[in-house]
Amino acid sequence: MIVPCPDCGKKNRVPGVASGRPRCAHCHHDLPWLAEAGDAGFADVVERSPLPVVVDLWAPWCGPCRMVSPELEKLAAEKAGRLKLVKVNSDDAPRLSQRFQVQAIPTLLVMRDGKVLANQVGAAPARVLRTWLDQALAGEPAAAQRGRP
Ligand SMILES: [Zn+2]
Repeated sequence: MIVPCPDCGKKNRVPGVASGRPRCAHCHHDLPWLAEAGDAGFADVVERSPLPVVVDLWAPWCGPCRMVSPELEKLAAEKAGRLKLVKVNSDDAPRLSQRFQVQAIPTLLVMRDGKVLANQVGAAPARVLRTWLDQALAGEPAAAQRGRP
């Protein structure tokens, strides 16, 4: 995805999968990390992400999704360097929809190391999403305690 740098405005290409967090090629400012995934790419894009991930399970026909997605993108920009936002079109991801027991969309998940830290079903106002996300991220274990296999 092409993302403008929040600091200098230069457009950067942000990869869906990377071992570190994306930085601006020009000024090295942290970039908002936006990506997409489906059934096939989910393990690489989400479960092995070096940053916590907000998963937005949406569908093109879903009106509330169109209200929530821009708010999530704002939060991702605000938390650049600390968060990755991954959009999953649930129509194209039947296995993920089943795995996360998606019964209504949007369904939002906060994930870290493949584990779901929090979920939110249905649309919510921006301030509710922000509080939900902050609480989910605050509940994550400290970096030093996180072992990697
Ligand atoms: Zn920049």
